Amino acid sequence: MNRGMLIIVSGPSGVGKGTVCNALFAQDAKLTFSVSATTRAPRPGEKEGVSYFFISDAEFQRMVEQDAFLEYACNFNTSSYGTPKAYVEKMRDAGKDVVLDIDVKGAANVKKVCPDAITIFIAPPSMDALESRLRGRATENEEALQKRLREAVIEMDRIDEYEYLVVNDVLQTAVGDMHSIINAERLRTFRNVSLFNQLRGGR
Ligand code: 5GP
Repeated sequence: MNRGMLIIVSGPSGVGKGTVCNALFAQDAKLTFSVSATTRAPRPGEKEGVSYFFISDAEFQRMVEQDAFLEYACNFNTSSYGTPKAYVEKMRDAGKDVVLDIDVKGAANVKKVCPDAITIFIAPPSMDALESRLRGRATENEEALQKRLREAVIEMDRIDEYEYLVVNDVLQTAVGDMHSIINAERLRTFRNVSLFNQLRGGR
């Protein structure tokens, strides 16, 4: 059995990463989601252990000290986010392809320690579309929303650090594009060494 892939998905808040990924998971049982830990409060509808592990600042700090994160973004002014290492490793060892939904800095940090990670950026069709999606979601006050829009501009400036770019305009198209990328990556020869050796041995 091949070890599972690590698939990093980034994109500005409100772009629909969660919706795209959930549609992918419904179609592909080999995919699994890495649940991050965060110190921010749950939004309506978010579930503990499914959307995130909602933990305190002290717990977050303890995990940092125990080197329990594959990567983390610690921000004492707002909220911190981290990818628990143990779950990702366990799933990859079991042959599952693990999807990480992390920000641009986190993606760069993971790529340093896992150079074979696949990086996909999900972009909105335009900044106006992103703003209206964020307003439609109505989960933040105006100040927080403006902050997310400023962060979006900074993230979009770093799209060229990613291997793949998917535009989420029509959901089904974005999901199809993601699946094409994932399936093509699964067929890379270096991920199929045992099959390759078997074919060579049979010559
Ligand atoms: P939200 O608060 O909207 O759920 O997420 C805000 C940002 O945090 C998003 O850009 C998301 O990709 C990022 N994020 C979520 N989990 C992690 C994580 O484990 N590590 C890092 N570095 N960023 C994360």
